[in-house]
Order: sequence, then C-alpha cells, then structure tokens
Amino acid sequence: MSEQLSHHYREILRGLGENPEREGLLDTPKRAAKAMQYLCHGYGQTLEEIVNGALFESDNDEMVIVREIELYSLCEHHLLPFIGKAHVAYIPTGKVLGLSKVARIVDMYARRLQIQENLTRQIAEAVQSVTQAAGVAVVIEAKHMCMMMRGVEKQNSVMSTSVMLGAFRESSNTRHEFLKLIGRSN
Ligand SMILES: [Zn+2]
Repeated sequence: MSEQLSHHYREILRGLGENPEREGLLDTPKRAAKAMQYLCHGYGQTLEEIVNGALFESDNDEMVIVREIELYSLCEHHLLPFIGKAHVAYIPTGKVLGLSKVARIVDMYARRLQIQENLTRQIAEAVQSVTQAAGVAVVIEAKHMCMMMRGVEKQNSVMSTSVMLGAFRESSNTRHEFLKLIGRSN
C-alpha cells in the first residue's frame, strides 16, 4: 500500500518537472506517502472503536458543549488542507460521552477526504447515533488552502457550516443558547 503510494508520488514529482533522483527528493515519495496515509487515517477507524464503551449513565439533561476542537482535514476536490475549529453540543437523554470522545469523533471524520458540509453532518449524526441525544449541534469554521493558495487567493475568508439536529433545529432558544456559548450570536 505504502509502496504503491510512494511509486505514484515519484511519478507526480516527474510530472511536475522535477528529478526524483536528486538528493533532496530521494526519500520524498516515501515520506509523502506516509504523511498522506497519516492524514487519511480516519478511513481505518470506526465509530464503535473510537467510542469504545465510553458512554456513561447520567441524569444530566443540560446542554453539553465541547468548543474549539482543532480540526485538520483535506478537501476532496484538491487534496489540499482545510484547517479550523469545530464546536459540538448535544443534549443528553440519559447517556453522556467520555470527555475526549467528541474530539476523537471529529478527528476520525476529518482524517478522510472531505468537503466541509459533509464533515459537519457526519459528526452531528455520529454524536446523535452514539448518545441518542435530544439534539446535536455542530459548527465548523475553517480556512481552505485551496482558496488561500490558488484560485481566488482569498487569504482571510473563513467558511462556516452548521448542522442542527433535534432540539437545536426545533427550538430557536436552544439554538441561540448554543450560538451564544460559542460566541457566534449577536
Ligand atoms: Zn478544495
């Protein structure tokens, strides 16, 4: 697998007009293949294995928010990074997720080729299916290298996407409380 990838990276270097045999590039195909595999390691993970039973009984029915989860992903259109932050909230109905698990769920989906809209939805639906929450909200704000380094070259534009499920969709109060808590409402 890694062999095959590094072979293709060698061809990419050639295609770019480089000489893959020059000293500085000798190990680049191997390193690039390894890096790319790491950046896409979410393909090898499942929700069950990520959550790994870290679901705890709780009578808390107040909104749980995990803010500013660092996010690193690759856009599926250009294979260029988009990086930013995710904010995730849910309203438990008897079960809460272990603290680090929300971040790990974000990471599992981010470490695949993505578009930001789908990533946002996949995270929301995963949290919903694991916790059976009364509602889930996910907001992602990210900067896309494919916009910053090429094309329109808009260095400061931040793309914002959100998915609201259940109570966050039905109740504007709940939604506003969430947006206020992540500092996104006026
Ligand atoms: Zn792109």
